[in-house]
Amino acid sequence: MPDGKVKKVLTTQTKTLCFISPCLNESENIELLYKKLLEVANDVKTKFNIDYRIVFIDDGSTDNTWEMLNQISLKNPKVKSLKLSRNFGKENALLAGFENAPTCDYYVTLDADLQDDPAVISRMIASANQGFEIVYAQRASRTDSFLYVLCTKIFYKIMLIGSKVKFPSNVSDFYLITDKVKNALLQMQESVRYTRGLVFYTGFSKTGVQYDRPNRNAGKSNFNFIKLTIFMFDAITSFTSLPVHLISLIGLILSVLSFVFGLGYIILNVFSGNVFLGWGSLMAVAIFLGSVQILMVGVVAEYIARMNIELKRRPKYFLAEIIND
Ligand code: UDP
Ligand code: MG
Repeated sequence: MPDGKVKKVLTTQTKTLCFISPCLNESENIELLYKKLLEVANDVKTKFNIDYRIVFIDDGSTDNTWEMLNQISLKNPKVKSLKLSRNFGKENALLAGFENAPTCDYYVTLDADLQDDPAVISRMIASANQGFEIVYAQRASRTDSFLYVLCTKIFYKIMLIGSKVKFPSNVSDFYLITDKVKNALLQMQESVRYTRGLVFYTGFSKTGVQYDRPNRNAGKSNFNFIKLTIFMFDAITSFTSLPVHLISLIGLILSVLSFVFGLGYIILNVFSGNVFLGWGSLMAVAIFLGSVQILMVGVVAEYIARMNIELKRRPKYFLAEIIND
């Protein structure tokens, strides 16, 4: 400044919120989702004076999802639509969303099938305005099968014990994060991504809002039992080596037991000549130890397979088209 004075500009800056939604074959849901997001945007503008942006990511849909996103973006410059060159999976679609989102104060990720009820978002913003950097939606109740609930319980236990990160349970990819958290998230450039885990890994202040997760509005889920199992393995291998440590421990225990067993067998043989006979018992032990070994090698291989993916450092997605860049 020539006269050495700093000109003070007093502004009450409007904050911005960006909705990020990955879409795979969601043509039956897009219209309603967009309508609901506009309703939330209106509500948020009135209550908190927050402006909005939307980023939709078409993750290789084969229906007319892209045509619908295209039309919305052409009508509304606040809506950016990305088309990935093929299906790269939800986690990579989310990454594409974050990497290509305009700079905003808050980001909310939500599924396109309206299971992540947009009406919850204004409660998230109220918490963010209190200073929380991460506000996650947490399912108040679960209506899943006993087996599913049991698997998720075991999963959360392994994650909690193994990783020292305080992961809340019953959360999905429905959360609000601030720009600070988004930048931290983008510094973590691993290929096998468990995004919600990475969000909590950042360690910024967090709080939850409870909600009842409805069923999918239309269409069918893109996840089945096998995909979910792989997803859980991705999460566990990304955050903890606990299974490998357990393998070492089991190996150690079995070795000690077999040593004791062998010693007992020799002693019994020497002093009484009265030893266990039988093909059946031998087979049982052999099959048991054989299958335990295969299982253990399998767990180690799960880690190695993911290391193989990480080593290649390939781009995690390719953009075929962008509207309203
Ligand atoms: N999705 C995606 N790519 C995929 C699978 C899913 O972008 O490969 C999107 C999907 O369109 C939806 C969200 O991720 O917006 C959650 O998927 P879905 O509803 O199928 O999963 P569920 O709710 O059954 O776990
Ligand atoms: Mg869903």
